[in-house]
Amino acid sequence: MEDFKRLRDLMVDTQLIPRGIKDERVLSAMRKAPRHIFVDDYMQHKAYDDMALPIGDEQTISQPYMVAIMTELLELKGNEKVLEIGTGSGYQAAILAELSMEVFTIERKALLAKKAEERFQALGYGNVHVITGDGTLGLPEESPFDRILITAGSPKIPEPLIEQLADGGIIIAPVGIRFSQQLLIVRKSKGALSEQLHVPCVFVPLIGEYGWSGDEEDS
Ligand code: SAH
Repeated sequence: MEDFKRLRDLMVDTQLIPRGIKDERVLSAMRKAPRHIFVDDYMQHKAYDDMALPIGDEQTISQPYMVAIMTELLELKGNEKVLEIGTGSGYQAAILAELSMEVFTIERKALLAKKAEERFQALGYGNVHVITGDGTLGLPEESPFDRILITAGSPKIPEPLIEQLADGGIIIAPVGIRFSQQLLIVRKSKGALSEQLHVPCVFVPLIGEYGWSGDEEDS
């Protein structure tokens, strides 16, 4: 049995802090959340390595550093209502749940949504709600959201998500071409939007009405 707490501390001390992650709340959430529970058993020994890992269905759990940087950019204080698009393993949503009030996370693949839901229940994350569906449409009935995080690569920010962002809110999303993106930070202030580009990144595609078409994938 590996000492996962030790591996988690090592992950924070060697992958996150040296690369400039400073938000103490983000660092302590990542020291706490059991990332190895969010991957399949045969992959657990790699859970704290400096890389994205396969989670089945051609999808991935993001690299720890990418989770940390996106979370830091959301500037969470603890009282926010957060929407995540792309639940995947559920790990990013667990980090968000540690740092905000309530998290809604949407996943288009039913099996991944179900597995993530089971993990949240087993670990006692009672403030996370998993929804199966096309996240590019957002979740109008629960809007507005203080923060929106898209964890799949998109040609642009889906329009419904911009509408469902609260004033004073922030959206973080990997935006670009199908196989490479850059993190985009969007802020809404007094109804006006401002945009800022951040680090380059590579995410699996956001497939949906306001994302990429899934023609090549879904048959
Ligand atoms: N946040 C995840 C990693 C995301 S991988 C984690 O912590 O593990 C991207 C996920 O987005 C995949 O699971 C993919 O199925 C999902 N996805 C792609 N397009 C989507 C859409 N339109 N709505 C919801 N989920 C989507």
